[in-house]
Amino acid sequence: MTARPAPLHARHRAVMPDWLALYYREPLELTHGEGRHVWDAQGRRYLDFFGGILTTMTAHALPEVTKAVAEQAGRILHTSTLYLDRHMVELAERIAALSGIPDARVFFTTSGTEANDAALLLATTFRRSNQILAMRNGYHGRSFSAIGVTGNSSWSPTSLSPLQTLYVHGAVRTRGPYAHLSDREFTEACVADLEDVLGQAHGNVAALIAEPVQGVGGFTAPPDGLYAAFRDVLARHGILWISDEVQTGWGRTGDHFWGWQAHAEAGPPDLLTFAKGIGNGMSVGGVVARADVMNCLDANSISTFGGSPVTMAAGLANLTYLLEHDLQGNARRVGGLLIERLRAIAAGLPVVREVRGRGLMIGIELAAPDGSPAPQAAALALEAARDKGLLIGKGGREGHALRIAPPLTLTVAEAEEGADILEETLRHVQDAFG
Ligand code: PLP
Repeated sequence: MTARPAPLHARHRAVMPDWLALYYREPLELTHGEGRHVWDAQGRRYLDFFGGILTTMTAHALPEVTKAVAEQAGRILHTSTLYLDRHMVELAERIAALSGIPDARVFFTTSGTEANDAALLLATTFRRSNQILAMRNGYHGRSFSAIGVTGNSSWSPTSLSPLQTLYVHGAVRTRGPYAHLSDREFTEACVADLEDVLGQAHGNVAALIAEPVQGVGGFTAPPDGLYAAFRDVLARHGILWISDEVQTGWGRTGDHFWGWQAHAEAGPPDLLTFAKGIGNGMSVGGVVARADVMNCLDANSISTFGGSPVTMAAGLANLTYLLEHDLQGNARRVGGLLIERLRAIAAGLPVVREVRGRGLMIGIELAAPDGSPAPQAAALALEAARDKGLLIGKGGREGHALRIAPPLTLTVAEAEEGADILEETLRHVQDAFG
């Protein structure tokens, strides 16, 4: 008699790293998806309010993307960037034009981490300095250099990164000394912090890397214009601005196509990094930079898989769909309704400290009765929502914020359905923690 294989979760635990995060006490095995829904191996259906992990930007199994992938896979899977590829050049042209960066050049990678790594390599080379400014509570990936600029110890373990990173305040406002400041006072305090931090630098600083809305940090946004105010200081020192748009790009924030545009008085960033949603789940990342910055590397180089044909075909089909269907507008409209509804729900529930967000990037911060962050409440909310057929994410420095980021094709009816489940979920959490 052959022994039955151990459950998948046990096999996962036995062979994969302990630090590889998994959601849920009984982790889900998702087997297929359609539109804004996914199904697990037991055939249960879930409304996906996390869009994979902001990767399913348009929809699960979007026919236009699936067809582009299948057709390209049937022609040739891989050629390497040593050869020309029609989809790659066209996608680069369109991203360069959309980026707002004049005379922009695009380098494709396979992930957000690698995109930030490339941006840091370019900025440090261009400025001949390994000093970087980064935001407290920011997250930029898990490579040696990306971890070196990640401002939260729970996401950046004992890093011995060769980068010297100076951290600046600018995102978290729900507690601490900045909590009661107006937008203007907050901006002034953060600019003063930036000036102070720059006083600790030794000579040149290469760049500031920042997410316009902090993603893993719990969907926290600074006041509009903060980075424009920072830019004035940076420009005096010749410091480059890297906008990490891995989560905020492609219209997710509703009002803007890129997150940096909420700070548009400063003009476009010098470098912009992207990944997650553009491939609708295929591994597409990249960095856009001014030509002089992009071309500062004195070397011949390629990325073996960055820009590979199937991913480029997916990215192009996905971007075309996104623009033709004005999904940024949909994120603004449906996201606006959802935020309003969630704020109304939260009004009677002290466990919800704040509902915040822009477009379809909505954070719900949970707090204990004494106002301290409540990660256990967030963990309970995740389980309870899942039991009711809704998948959401969590984040924040202490893992105490719920993250809502559905595919940008979300309909009003689906937003209502998800909000109904969240209402039940949050009432349940209130009863348990109130
Ligand atoms: N930058 C930001 C803002 C992110 O949220 C992430 C991932 O969550 C990354 C970079 C790293 O991207 P990846 O996981 O594709 O390497």
